[in-house]
Amino acid sequence: MNTRREFLHKATLSSLAVSLPFSDSLAAFNSVQEDKVLRVAIMGLGSYGTRVAEAMKDCKRAKLVGVVSGTPSKIAAWQEKYGIPSKNCYNYENFDQIKDNPDIDAVYVITPNSLHKPYSIRVAKAGKHVICEKPMALNAEEAKEMVEVCKAAGVHLLVGYRMHFEAKTLEIVQRQRAGEFGKTLFFQGLSGFIIGDPSQWRLNKELAGGGAMMDIGIYSINGARYMLGEEPIWVTAQEVKTDPVKFKEGVDETITFQMGFPSGAVASCLSTYSLNNLDKFFLNGTKGFAEMQPSTGYGPIKAWTNKGPVDAEHITHQTTQMDEMAAILLDGKKSIIPVDGEEGWKDMVIVDAIYKAVKTGEKVKLG
Ligand code: NDP
Repeated sequence: MNTRREFLHKATLSSLAVSLPFSDSLAAFNSVQEDKVLRVAIMGLGSYGTRVAEAMKDCKRAKLVGVVSGTPSKIAAWQEKYGIPSKNCYNYENFDQIKDNPDIDAVYVITPNSLHKPYSIRVAKAGKHVICEKPMALNAEEAKEMVEVCKAAGVHLLVGYRMHFEAKTLEIVQRQRAGEFGKTLFFQGLSGFIIGDPSQWRLNKELAGGGAMMDIGIYSINGARYMLGEEPIWVTAQEVKTDPVKFKEGVDETITFQMGFPSGAVASCLSTYSLNNLDKFFLNGTKGFAEMQPSTGYGPIKAWTNKGPVDAEHITHQTTQMDEMAAILLDGKKSIIPVDGEEGWKDMVIVDAIYKAVKTGEKVKLG
């Protein structure tokens, strides 16, 4: 996939091996590995794609080298701004040709939700690694298909879970795993914001696949899983709709949901498009608690426990995410909280269960 670079890389290593003692050549090997850079094309040059592109300016291991867009004027502007050569620019009709481009390693799909599956599958079939935004698909079945296609194509599939690399989140997760809070039996996740323009794709069932749950509620689902370190075995959920004109059939405005875990822990969560300042995680255990507010916004994240504030440097989330994803894809690094397709699929199984629980009013069993 990367022949010239690999050749140069190997040539550098063999010349190092003959001229340096073992420990020096090992150190040099490691630094050459470190220098390998993930060359990324962003697909969908919208609001979040722009945020990722800006954050990537500070990356050490990942570089924006290409674009896929349906808007020629955006392509021209991005070429100018980020120095992207014309040979690395594609649209939605021709991007399968990326298979013949040795200068792109991965494509980051940042389009409306319903396009994640078809576009990710085309990227995989073009032999490139896929990074896909959340929610990775419209449902668990689609997510599973994406995982299988990527596996068959021999490429990695990662989901854009930026919080999985955020320093304060990781500090709390590690303390929970080490038992600092005792037996953690309760998680509360509150995720919401007031959505504006009623004509946007986020309020269109076909493009969004749902409403607030697909967009912001998924943070509470995912947060419950990584903060408790367990997978839920049941879900209950209730929907409230105050504005059926703005939030049409199949587009959820507000859902409260509860999850039960094998240890006996429970999670109580709220997902809404009708309240601001709703971005909070609370974890309670037999020996202590952790609280985060804001917990999943762009930061800085604020976190504290019963022992006091949790301190960690704020780094732009997407900068850390892309550097860490480069390490996963180039060096095989394992992240503390997974970001692979399987992880995204687990969230989609729960989303499906929540929608089912809303519809039936029943407790939905998982696993
Ligand atoms: P935007 O509407 O701002 O951008 C989406 C872009 O997708 C468009 O600008 C367009 O780019 C492209 N696109 C392709 N087909 C369509 C279509 N039919 N309708 C509209 N746009 C289309 O959305 P966001 O950038 O806010 O969200 C994109 C994805 O990123 C979503 O899945 C969302 O959930 C996720 N996201 C993740 C966040 C995170 O923190 N992880 C935060 C925000 C969003 P072009 O003109 O170049 O083709």
